[in-house]
Amino acid sequence: MKNTTTTARTTNADGGWLRLFLLLTIAFWMTGCAGSVKDTSRTFTCVVIDAGHGGHDNGATSRWGGREKDNALNTAMRLQPKLEAAGFRTVMTRRDDTFIPLDRRAAISNRQDNTIFVSIHFNHSPKRSARGSEVYYKSRCSARIAQNILNQIIALPGTVNRGVRTANFRVLRKAQYPAVLVECGFLSNPGEGSRCASGAWHERFAEAIARGIIIQRHGGLNMMAAQ
Ligand SMILES: [Zn+2]
Repeated sequence: MKNTTTTARTTNADGGWLRLFLLLTIAFWMTGCAGSVKDTSRTFTCVVIDAGHGGHDNGATSRWGGREKDNALNTAMRLQPKLEAAGFRTVMTRRDDTFIPLDRRAAISNRQDNTIFVSIHFNHSPKRSARGSEVYYKSRCSARIAQNILNQIIALPGTVNRGVRTANFRVLRKAQYPAVLVECGFLSNPGEGSRCASGAWHERFAEAIARGIIIQRHGGLNMMAAQ
């Protein structure tokens, strides 16, 4: 009897520590951001829209998908009025075929108030079969934004979910606000690449990214689940 009691106590104590550990882990992930990033992921009133590449930097290119810099700019230009219509202030890091260094893109975002940074790209792989959409982030307070945007993109017909991923990309690393990098699809894949080069799909990607951002700001993942 005595032994049983001791065992039970030990188990309870272990369970308590385990619960505390789990709670602390959850709290760690739910609050704040790593390093010097300000967590504006639920309060932002501004979105910095970053069309990847530009000027001498074509980004990825393919026979089917054209140039990444053009697809990214066209998608970004379509995203801006949608976010403005939803009440956000927007800042474009470029509005034409200009090369903007990565540090300047991050600096444009860092000097705004209460913003998030959304970089738009198209992907490339030496494997032609590679396809799908993915969203990258670095700071953990950007993770929900990445997931909300990706959820909307993969709801589009014919898209493939490659998940949200962490990466140490320079524009993400330098960001002092939550920042994500959207890879809309693979230009190197014949089918997906042709779609990614079309205005109709730039419009769809822009709509999906805008929806993800609006959901992030006004309802988060709960609102997503209710849809
Ligand atoms: Zn790119």
